[in-house]
Amino acid sequence: MNTDVAEVTQTQKMPVLIWSQAGRLELSSREIPQIQHPSDVKIKIHMTGICGTDLAVITGKEPGIGGVIRGHEAVGIVTETGPEVSRLKPGDRVVIDPNESCGKCRFCLRGKRNLCVGPDGRGMPIAGLNKDGTFAPWFVDAGVVRTQAAGICELGSCSPYGTAGLRPPQFP
Ligand SMILES: [Zn+2]
Ligand SMILES: [Zn+2]
Repeated sequence: MNTDVAEVTQTQKMPVLIWSQAGRLELSSREIPQIQHPSDVKIKIHMTGICGTDLAVITGKEPGIGGVIRGHEAVGIVTETGPEVSRLKPGDRVVIDPNESCGKCRFCLRGKRNLCVGPDGRGMPIAGLNKDGTFAPWFVDAGVVRTQAAGICELGSCSPYGTAGLRPPQFP
């Protein structure tokens, strides 16, 4: 039998790290996600950072949602794109933007999608918090950014923030 055909016809599983209903980080198994919407991008995840938010949940300082694949600070390579995706192609290196934005709220309309509160003011899904994230080998979503663009974002956001926190040394 042709192994390629066998691979396509079988439901493929992947190992994932979920926040369990019992309140623990657990190794589990899920079906490999597939492109569902025309604007989706399928990504082979290469690395995911462990965020302070993950640590807060693991140490009990913040509640986690049971059954959700955690992880949201990830890089990977595009392997497949939906028919409406024009700015990315297979082989592109990308950084995940875990925050969805509605495009309709007062923040989105002012171009501040990072502050989106959702069309009803109750927020939007965030990968790795309240929808499946990137502690997994595969991830499908519409919210991705090219690595090059993300590199500039990091400089433009973290550097001024970090510099603002600097204080001259205090001497007695
Ligand atoms: Zn984070
Ligand atoms: Zn919005």
